[in-house]
Amino acid sequence: MNAIIFGAPGSGKGTYASRLQSRLGVEVIATGDIFREIMKKETALGKKVKGYVEKGLLVPDDIVIEVLKHRLAKIPKEKGFILDGYPRTLEQAETLDEIAKIDVILLLTVPEWIIIERLSSRRICKNCGAVYNIRFLKPKVDMVCDKCGGPLFQRSDDNPEVIKKRTQVYEEQTRPILQFFEERKVPFVVANCDTLDTPPDAVVKTILKNLSKLKMV
Ligand code: ADP
Ligand code: ZN
Repeated sequence: MNAIIFGAPGSGKGTYASRLQSRLGVEVIATGDIFREIMKKETALGKKVKGYVEKGLLVPDDIVIEVLKHRLAKIPKEKGFILDGYPRTLEQAETLDEIAKIDVILLLTVPEWIIIERLSSRRICKNCGAVYNIRFLKPKVDMVCDKCGGPLFQRSDDNPEVIKKRTQVYEEQTRPILQFFEERKVPFVVANCDTLDTPPDAVVKTILKNLSKLKMV
C-alpha cells in the first residue's frame, strides 16, 4: 500500500505515520525530517534549506523533488510507503503521479486551536526524531526520549510567528492540491481529531479500521 498522510502542520502526520509504519510494515518518507538532517550539515544546500524552513516557507520544488526521488528509489519494490509532508504543491503532486501509484490519502482534520496548542508544546528527539508533547504526550523522563534515551528539543520553526506562517502556507498552497487526488479518484480515509487529549493510538485505530473497510490492510 502506498499512502500519503495529509494534513496541516501539527495535525499529527509524523506521530501517526510512525505508528502505522510498524503496524503495516511500510516505510515512511518524511520530507521535513530529511530537511532537518540536511540542515544539520553546514553545506550550501543545508544553509539554503534552512533559510526557508526557519521562516515557515516551502523549500523550492526542484530541491524537494530531487530529495523525494532519491529517497523513493531506495524503497524495495514489494514494500509500500507512507509519504509524510509530501506533496505540498501541485508540481510536487504531478511529479509524484509520474513516478508512483498512490492507493489512498489519509486525511487528518484538526481544528486550528488544537494545532496551535500542540505545536507550541511539541518536543522532538534529537537522536531518532520521535515526537512528544510536554502537555499531552509526555516522555516518561522529563526531556528524555522513551525510545532511545536521546535529548528532546524544540524545533526552531515551532514558535508562534512561524507556526502562523506555516498554517497560512498550508491553506494557500497545500490544502488545494487535495483536488488533484479527488480528480484521480484516489480514495480518502478521513481521521478527525477534535480534542486535545485524544490518544494517538485511538486515531491510528480509526485509520486502520477504515483501511480495512477499503480492503487495503
Ligand atoms: P509540519 O508538517 O509540522 O509543518 P514538516 O516536518 O513536515 O512539518 O516540515 C517542516 C518544514 O520543512 C516545512 O515548513 C517546509 O519548510 C519544509 N518542507 C517539508 N516538506 C516539504 C515539501 N514537500 N515541500 C516544501 N517544503 C517542505
Ligand atoms: Zn529518540
